Amino acid sequence: MPTRWNYPDPALQDELRKIANAIVSPGKGILAADESVGTMGKRLADIGLENTEDNRRKYRQLLFTTDKELGNYISGVILFHETVYQKSDDGTPFVELLKQRGIIPGIKVDTGVVPLFGSLDETTTQGLDDLAKRCAQYKKDGCQFAKWRCVLKIGQHTPSYEAILENANVLARYASICQANRIVPIVEPEILPDGDHDLERCQKVSETVLAFVYKALADHNVFLEGTLLKPNMVTSGQGAATKATKEQIAKATVTALSRTVPPAVPGVTFLSGGQSEEEATLNLDAMNRYEAKKPWALSFSYGRALQASVLRAWAGKDAMGPFLQLRTRLAGFVAAGQKELLIRAKANSQASLGKYEAGSAQGKAGDAGLFIKDHAY
Ligand code: 13P
Repeated sequence: MPTRWNYPDPALQDELRKIANAIVSPGKGILAADESVGTMGKRLADIGLENTEDNRRKYRQLLFTTDKELGNYISGVILFHETVYQKSDDGTPFVELLKQRGIIPGIKVDTGVVPLFGSLDETTTQGLDDLAKRCAQYKKDGCQFAKWRCVLKIGQHTPSYEAILENANVLARYASICQANRIVPIVEPEILPDGDHDLERCQKVSETVLAFVYKALADHNVFLEGTLLKPNMVTSGQGAATKATKEQIAKATVTALSRTVPPAVPGVTFLSGGQSEEEATLNLDAMNRYEAKKPWALSFSYGRALQASVLRAWAGKDAMGPFLQLRTRLAGFVAAGQKELLIRAKANSQASLGKYEAGSAQGKAGDAGLFIKDHAY
């Protein structure tokens, strides 16, 4: 095996390192607002709204026009392609709104999962073909980091060697293409919570998957200081007879990471994976309180656990028909949604420092479970 290659030139190393470090600077994390058109449609349907481009724009406008305080807790937002090019009612591009709040725009670049032929319902993720071209364009358009999600499933015979190997490799290939285009890759091997497995099984699967991922990243000469990891937390399965406590989750997750993720990686930004808003905050907080060797920042990159209350409070009121278009009343619903976002973002910021007081952030969605079977993004 050849051991001679070129490290990225120092200027590129500096650029990537700076972006990655900024995203996981103390007390900050990511808002994942990169739901595909289909997934956003399901969220809008929950509040009785049609899945039109303008309704999606109105919802994202609410998120990105939240008070500048948001930038104290959120360092980056992951966008979906369409959103990168949308503007607020007054014509300000969304990317500008984020920058005004000191928030770094990011972009989801995978194009979704496809079945692995002959497997037990396992998948790989596609989108490599024109990725270099798209990354170059997104960088020009203001995006500094990217996300690519791979999915693994725990079953009696899964994840298979084929799925583990293939997904690790495609993540590494994606990461190297991003870095070549001056974009920080967020590497996301999501092990779904579906199943009745216990905590220990999830820990072993997580360790195996992560070991393959970091071997592949090494094989592809990925510059680790300019990457972030977005994993699942190690939990018992959604249908498990015994549910692990937050202390057990913290211990199992930190142990799995410490065995597999090199200290060169600046940060781990967890997905919320169907946990309730409060649960996702408490588990992150427990990890940061847990005493162990932790060479990386442990923070959040939540989608559902940052937006469930927002959607309920907003309830799509400013996107409804003319009868409800009484401006004074409508502004109230947008403000209520924004207030929920600030409450949850602040709670997760505190959790990323191990300083969240249980129950201190009360949201509209509260403890409601956000689990979706076989979740697609
Ligand atoms: P959830 O936090 O809703 O799991 O999603 C985050 C994400 O970006 C998954 O790819």
